[in-house]
Amino acid sequence: MILHIDMDAFFASIEQAINPKLKGKPLIVGSRANRLYTVVCAASYEAKALGIDSGMPTKEAFSICPDLAFVPAQQGRYIWTSEEIFKLLKGYGFEIAYASIDEFQMDIQDTPNPENLAKEIRKGIQDSFKITASIGIAKNWILAKLASKINKPNGIAILNEANLEQTLAKIPAQKLCGVGLKTGLFFNDLGIKTCLELYQKPADYLEQILGKNGLNFYLSLHSNERFQTQEAEEKPKSVGHSYTFPRASENTGFIRAWIRLLSEMVARRLREQNLVSKTVYLWLTGPKIGNFKAQKTYREATNDAHDIFHRCLKIMAKTGKNKPKIRALGVTCSGLEKACYLPLFKEQKRREDLLKAVDKINARIGEDTLYPASIELAKSMK
Ligand SMILES: [Mg+2]
Repeated sequence: MILHIDMDAFFASIEQAINPKLKGKPLIVGSRANRLYTVVCAASYEAKALGIDSGMPTKEAFSICPDLAFVPAQQGRYIWTSEEIFKLLKGYGFEIAYASIDEFQMDIQDTPNPENLAKEIRKGIQDSFKITASIGIAKNWILAKLASKINKPNGIAILNEANLEQTLAKIPAQKLCGVGLKTGLFFNDLGIKTCLELYQKPADYLEQILGKNGLNFYLSLHSNERFQTQEAEEKPKSVGHSYTFPRASENTGFIRAWIRLLSEMVARRLREQNLVSKTVYLWLTGPKIGNFKAQKTYREATNDAHDIFHRCLKIMAKTGKNKPKIRALGVTCSGLEKACYLPLFKEQKRREDLLKAVDKINARIGEDTLYPASIELAKSMK
């Protein structure tokens, strides 16, 4: 069985845990510091209840709720918490993988009583970080991910043979990961409205209407595929992170902030494993650009988020669109090598020492007191 652990309103909950005065209040996390001229990066459940969600201009959010609490995004905090949760989950002794900054997948094999384990994990996260998670349990990652949404927030749901069909019949097809609005409407036209109707379609039918993607989709739904991102824990061929927005955004600042954050997460994992990467791969999904994917290989390998971010921006320029509307995005580094070369340039050496010092301090103190990313981010968004 697979457990899909999805943090509830992750960024907003972290801010509420740090500052208890914000608990129970409608709160938004802005993608930059100027409260009236930015975009909602995350919203607390109290704000979501008012119809406020990520991707919305903050001005609009304040017009819905003038008393809204506002905190500028603290990327360092979120990455740190995400990595600490990953470590905590690893402690349970099962193989785990990142599905997103706030989503984790765990292969619990045939552990008896998976619901008890899920409860224990949920409590462990709550005790350590004062934030909640929702957990889905199913035979593969895609169904487990779907299950995690059923009793959100702070809920657990299991999809097993006894309840699978009955539950899938109640969920619109659009809720399945990978379906989205456009494909959802397409399915709707074909008379496929629920997850169950989709689940019951034979492989050749899905292949006929969606091509190779349809076949892959069928396999994900019916096989025992364990993780969303196929990444070996021990010797990775690539290191990547991705994120899906609740709705598409064409706000360049918001999108760039996310590319920066994902680059930072990827870079930190490369450094942790003493790796450098030559190839940066960026994928973007949006209503007009479809699935845009491109990669670029450089002669100089890097594990510096600043470089990875700028390499991503160059790749993004290849979309040929000035302001592409984006729904989901991912940054992956491949072409990995051991980071054992001697730095040739003084500047390079200086940056490496700086990064090492930052990682060391962050690892020791835990909190991200030192964080070059936000400075770079602010600069890049001016
Ligand atoms: Mg979440």
